[in-house]
Amino acid sequence: MHKSKRLKPKNLLLTFIIAFALISIIFLHINDVNNKSKLPPPAISVSNNVNINPTHDRNINEREHVINTDTSDNSKEHNLEKPPMNHGKNGYDASIIQDFLLKNKIKSDGKKIAFLTFDDGPSLEVTPKILKTLNENSIKATFFIVGNQLDKHPESRKLLIDEYMQGNSIGNHTYSHDPDKLYPKKDVDTKFFIEDLEKNNETLKSVLGDNFHTRVIRFPGGHRTWNKTAEVDHILKKQGYIFLDWNAMTSDAEGNPKTKQELIDRYKHTFKGQDKLVILMHDSEDKNTTADALPDIINDLKSKGYEFETLT
Ligand SMILES: [Zn+2]
Repeated sequence: MHKSKRLKPKNLLLTFIIAFALISIIFLHINDVNNKSKLPPPAISVSNNVNINPTHDRNINEREHVINTDTSDNSKEHNLEKPPMNHGKNGYDASIIQDFLLKNKIKSDGKKIAFLTFDDGPSLEVTPKILKTLNENSIKATFFIVGNQLDKHPESRKLLIDEYMQGNSIGNHTYSHDPDKLYPKKDVDTKFFIEDLEKNNETLKSVLGDNFHTRVIRFPGGHRTWNKTAEVDHILKKQGYIFLDWNAMTSDAEGNPKTKQELIDRYKHTFKGQDKLVILMHDSEDKNTTADALPDIINDLKSKGYEFETLT
């Protein structure tokens, strides 16, 4: 009697432990199966170790946006906790630069920072050359992407991923890049502009993942070129977008194709010692000389004491 009384609680405990272990195993298995069934189809054939992390280091709103809109998918939440690669590492608050540009400033805090910006890409021939030069110099840039290029040349989608994973900032340059529709008679068509911007967002997400978000945008042709911008400006501000023009350029998209030296000369002509320098360049199809001129431009800026950052 005494012996059996002492054994009973032990047996009970053992039974409880085994039952608990079994339930845990079953629960973990079910959870695992659920997670697997929830995995979204890959946006593009990306290698498994690619982590598309949408958070920009400096933008809390974007982080909140991600958290608020992505609570249903455990697998994605898990991805978000991985290290964010290099993206946004050097990101500079684009709103400060927007203000600098809109007020046509030359000097602000005295710290020399250059922002290399490339519009209208990615393109199969030029973008890889630009990325190579950036990589060799351990520099990051800002790419303003035109979505229709990604649809016209699906192979270029891989280049957008390369840009992103290399730590560059990705900006929105509208889907169509069609001035006749965006700015009929030079007046902004607000409805079309916003729709085109959103269409481009969806295209970017289709490559970089649903969590991708960027607040930096560039008007095709530049914001200052067009009339009746008040309405669209108001909406963009409300939606948290920052539009960015430039204060230096190589003129690589103006007139006839230019030689490497012509591009460098033009860049030097527009360089006025701005302590925040936003250089407009293009990595679209026919801009090989831009890729050729880039190392010289980078070296010139380095010799002048500039650091390089991205706009985020
Ligand atoms: Zn453009």
